[in-house]
Amino acid sequence: MRDPEYLPVMEEFYTIQGEGHYTGTPAYFIRLGGCDVGCKWCDVKDSWDASQYDWIDVNILVDHARNSGASLVVVTGGEPFMHNLSLLTEKLREANLQCNVETAGVHLPSGSWDWICFSPKKFKKPIHEYYEAAQELKIVLFHRSDFKWAESHALQMNLEAQKYLQPEWSKAKEITPLIVDYVKRNPSWKISLQTHKFIDIP
Ligand code: SF4
Repeated sequence: MRDPEYLPVMEEFYTIQGEGHYTGTPAYFIRLGGCDVGCKWCDVKDSWDASQYDWIDVNILVDHARNSGASLVVVTGGEPFMHNLSLLTEKLREANLQCNVETAGVHLPSGSWDWICFSPKKFKKPIHEYYEAAQELKIVLFHRSDFKWAESHALQMNLEAQKYLQPEWSKAKEITPLIVDYVKRNPSWKISLQTHKFIDIP
C-alpha cells in the first residue's frame, strides 16, 4: 500500500450533502479513487480504477477543505477504505473539521470518524465491524424484492443507528412509491433521496 500521506483523489468539491442523515448540510467532498465492489448500477464507475488519479498529499486535501469554509468533510468513493485514512482524519480533526465517510463496508475501517454511513451492496459481502461501528445504514433499493435484503442488514445493526431506504436513481419512479408505503408501515426506517440530483449539484 502507498504511503497514507498520499491518497488517489478522483475529485474534491464543496457542495451540499444530498442524501442520508446529513441531507442539506454544506460539506466538502473528497472522492477517492478505487473500488472493488462492482455494483452494476454504480453512477461513479470512473472511480473504480485508482491508478488513473493523482495521489495527493493529505495536508493539501485538508487545506482545501479548511479553505472552502465547510465545517463538515465527507470522504466518499469509490470505496474509501481501500486506503489507510488514519492520517487524513488525524489532520482533518486538527483542523476542527467533522469527519464523515461513506462506505460499502468491504474493507477494514481506518481513521477516526464522527459519522460512518454504511451502505452494503449485494455485489460484495460487507465485514461485520460496520454493523457495530456505523451511525447510519443506507440501503439503495434497485428491485421491489430488496426490502427483505434491507431488513437482513437492519437486523444486524447496532440499535442507535439511523436506517434509510433510498431508491436507486434509475429505478426511482418504480421504487419510490413502494418505499413511501414501506416506511409508513415500518417507521423505524426513513427515506433518503438523492436530492443533489434534483437540484443539479454535484
Ligand atoms: Fe460504485 Fe459505490 Fe458500488 Fe463501488 S460501492 S461500485 S463506488 S456504488
